[in-house]
Amino acid sequence: MGEILKEPAMREAASPGGKPFSFLDRESPYYLLHLFSVLSVASVAVILLVVGYGVYRIYSRGVIEDAEQDATAIGRAIFEQERNVFLRRQPDGTQRIAINRGDFAGLDERMRKYLHPFGIYKIKVFSADKTIVYSTDHSIIGQVDSGNANLERVLRYGEVISKLEDKSQVWDLAGEQHYDVDLVESYLPVKAGDRIIGAYELYVDVTRARQQIARALALSVAVLAVVLVVVFASLFVPMRQGTLRLKQAQDELRALAATDMLTGIFNRRYLLARIQEEFSRMARGQSRQPLRHSLGFIMVDIDHFKRVNDSYGHLAGDEILREVSARLKRNLRVYDVIGRYGGEEFLVMLPNAGFEEAKEVAERMHRAIRDKPFSAAGTPVSVTASLGVACSTDADDDIYAVIRRADEGLYKAKNAGRDRVGWV
Ligand code: GH3
Ligand code: MG
Ligand code: MG
Repeated sequence: MGEILKEPAMREAASPGGKPFSFLDRESPYYLLHLFSVLSVASVAVILLVVGYGVYRIYSRGVIEDAEQDATAIGRAIFEQERNVFLRRQPDGTQRIAINRGDFAGLDERMRKYLHPFGIYKIKVFSADKTIVYSTDHSIIGQVDSGNANLERVLRYGEVISKLEDKSQVWDLAGEQHYDVDLVESYLPVKAGDRIIGAYELYVDVTRARQQIARALALSVAVLAVVLVVVFASLFVPMRQGTLRLKQAQDELRALAATDMLTGIFNRRYLLARIQEEFSRMARGQSRQPLRHSLGFIMVDIDHFKRVNDSYGHLAGDEILREVSARLKRNLRVYDVIGRYGGEEFLVMLPNAGFEEAKEVAERMHRAIRDKPFSAAGTPVSVTASLGVACSTDADDDIYAVIRRADEGLYKAKNAGRDRVGWV
């Protein structure tokens, strides 16, 4: 079937009017392939984003939980150890958080020793009225952190609150200090019996853990990306092969549907469609450049063809038809269109040809038939043809009117004794 596409005219039939191929042509099988590629790339991007974000959230959650557990355990241990230093019994028998001036230097030294090995960056101890009773940052001791909503919740409900702060967000107490580390900030309550008597806040350094997460994240996304690319690429290859086969089959079917099987030139259906297309093109072009477009037409009819059949048989007649169409075609330019209009009638369309030019082509075709003898199955056969010429330069003209004029020219030639070119 592929044979048929070797003819340039048939390749033209496969993509009528020489339309340039476009990925956006929904009728083309390539459109499916194009759609598949676009969707694949989009899918890969979405999968990577979703998985990347999910993995990041899970790991980050883990880091916060680890840091919170560390903070809680260390905080409790410190408070057990330093209970006598932090807690003051009041006259009514209850306890509150307060530190004697004399205990401060010793406490501060011990605190630094406790906290450093656990990566705790800073600690603040609050009394029930939100006053900072102790901090590794001495400059803030005695300040009241009154607008702090987290502290409020811890003191009121005894909740444990932790959140991850990355480098860009870590500002302490209205921006007086900026840390160059990733921290988990944990608030924990201090209880005496059931009563909440204060809170402490720990900043746990999680920079390293977060760097590990970043590496793990990059690695998992990269591995997933490779897997997805391999999967989609292995789908793409057979899809592309299938698309090419489909496209080829489509082209061949189109070409077959446009072909006259006996002569190999266009059939009547395709010929008329092409002429109609040329008329529409002329109508579009004419509004801008009135004299550029004109269409020449030649109707060719073999003289007394019935006699050829009667004298030499139908197979001989077929052979003559093939030879006539071949000779006519040899005298055309590549962009001229020739088709079999009826049994022994051919119609030629000459784009951009005026009347005189069409007449010249008709004369040339006439000579091509007349000047060289025909033969069928080795027997010489006398063949002549009559030709009718018409031309259309007016976009209001229609295909049937111009074919009628070419027909009239043909009848004039027939009536004048056949074997000649006629026109009206
Ligand atoms: P005129 O000069 O007036 O055109 O005479 P004609 O005999 O050519 O015209 P007519 O229309 O009477 O006959 C056309 C003949 O063409 C009749 C038909 O048998 C023959 N014909 C049509 N198609 C084919 C074909 O595919 N193969 C063969 N062998 N003959 C065909
Ligand atoms: Mg006829
Ligand atoms: Mg005839």
